[in-house]
Amino acid sequence: MKKRIVFILFCASFVFSLSTLYILYLSNNLSSLFSSVYHLLLFATTFSLFFYLIKLNSNPQYAHATIITEKKEKNKNSNDPSIKPIITFENVAGLDEAKDELVEVIDFIKQSEKYKKMGAKIPRGILFHGPPGTGKTLLASAVAGETKSAFFSTSGSEFVEKYVGVGAKRIRTLFEKAKKDSPSVIFIDEIDAIGSKRHLDSNNEKDQTLNQLLVELDGFNTDQTVLVIGATNRLDLLDEALLRPGRFDRHMYIGNPNTKAREEILKVHTINKPLHGSVKIVDLAQKTHGMSGAHLSNVANEAAIIAVRENSLTITTIHFEQAIERIVAGLKIKNPTVLLKEKRIVSYHEAGHALVGKLLSTDMVQKVSIIPRGQSLGYVIHMPQADRYILTKDELLSKIMVILGGRAAEELIFNHFSTGAKDDLKKATALAMQMVCDYGMSDLGFVCQEPAIIRSLSCEINSAVNKIIESCYTVTYKHLKKYSDSLEKIALSLIEQEALNASELDELLKDCELKKIELEAV
Ligand code: ADP
Ligand code: ZN
Repeated sequence: MKKRIVFILFCASFVFSLSTLYILYLSNNLSSLFSSVYHLLLFATTFSLFFYLIKLNSNPQYAHATIITEKKEKNKNSNDPSIKPIITFENVAGLDEAKDELVEVIDFIKQSEKYKKMGAKIPRGILFHGPPGTGKTLLASAVAGETKSAFFSTSGSEFVEKYVGVGAKRIRTLFEKAKKDSPSVIFIDEIDAIGSKRHLDSNNEKDQTLNQLLVELDGFNTDQTVLVIGATNRLDLLDEALLRPGRFDRHMYIGNPNTKAREEILKVHTINKPLHGSVKIVDLAQKTHGMSGAHLSNVANEAAIIAVRENSLTITTIHFEQAIERIVAGLKIKNPTVLLKEKRIVSYHEAGHALVGKLLSTDMVQKVSIIPRGQSLGYVIHMPQADRYILTKDELLSKIMVILGGRAAEELIFNHFSTGAKDDLKKATALAMQMVCDYGMSDLGFVCQEPAIIRSLSCEINSAVNKIIESCYTVTYKHLKKYSDSLEKIALSLIEQEALNASELDELLKDCELKKIELEAV
């Protein structure tokens, strides 16, 4: 802006000088003419020099190093806090418990005088912990939005530097700015990057950064309304000092949404999208078990993209189903070159998973497909019928059996083992290992095993894990053999039409008398 005014002034003076020259030239006054040319030249040189200096200063290549650092610091430490976030609790679906907890904090920021008069201190630090994509950042920015505070959003990794003292300086600058712009909310995502236990990996730079953060958390005085929110996926890694009262002493677990919350999140993310009248968000919530808020926002977006690609005016249930599949199973591979022999193996393998799933009916088989996606040649999408927080031993065994269904079907039909079951075996082993070491569901007893004990008992643990997997495999194989006609039916339809959804699978198996597998034998 300033530069433009200077430029206009310069042009005006230039035009004025030229017109003076012209008048003098017309009036034949030579000595005044020379003096005016001289002044004009002097004027032009001074202005050129002035402009050159302005340009030099704004060119990052020549600017002084501190200017660069300050700019970098500004970018790193804030997302222009002068723009207050307009996200409010309305944009955050579900998470009711966390929102209820935060109401008090919000009141404190909004009416800080009331609390200060009573001598109450603002809660200083809040820690959100839980899996990624569950809305921790969103919730933090909603706190800033609700209180019309400046929002400073950073990530712990931005403070991890090679040179001692740089990270600590960044922390200092961040808090200085937040105090200046108070009321403000500082959000530090992945706080474990700077706040992990100090004895784990002694690192001078990291220690200094963490110390600086502790100093800043202790150093607020009561008339500065600055709230610090940290977020981590690994609460267990954090240094005790960070969790002490007066620092990050309020912990809130932000987990994956349940069916009701998934429904609300999907509503938030489809509010401005033209949905076909037949789309039922409740059903979509059922089909997206285990997905985080970020996944669900992706599903809504992906469905809209698919609808555009198909030149559809509205987003239909099929678009949503395709989007869910894309997110669960990965990108569909165009023109895959799978040998017919391999296609047959994959078909029986996936049919094995699907049939055992049906025989145990623990989870709902939503789709079975041999269309290559991502790195897999085929997949079965299972979803539990309801949100589950506790699983019994039988249910865990059922899960292992469904996982082993693919390998058992391959052995039964082709009498071979293939590399296709690698991931299945990994998953089955991990589950069996948890049953032995964490849940006390094996002959090794009820004791929950510590890492040191796991190392010393590795032989016994191995044989207990093996025993579980082998007995699950034997029962699975026996039942696939018993229902080999049904297995054949599913596999042949897969070879023909490549994918079957839940109702097609039910239709296919409607005449087969399937009897639920009894688990006593395992
Ligand atoms: P986190 O910080 O826990 O990793 P984010 O807050 O960055 O997760 O969430 C990523 C995106 O997922 C958000 O921008 C939002 O679009 C969506 N999202 C996650 N949780 C929710 C929720 N509870 N309500 C609405 N959208 C959500
Ligand atoms: Zn498999």
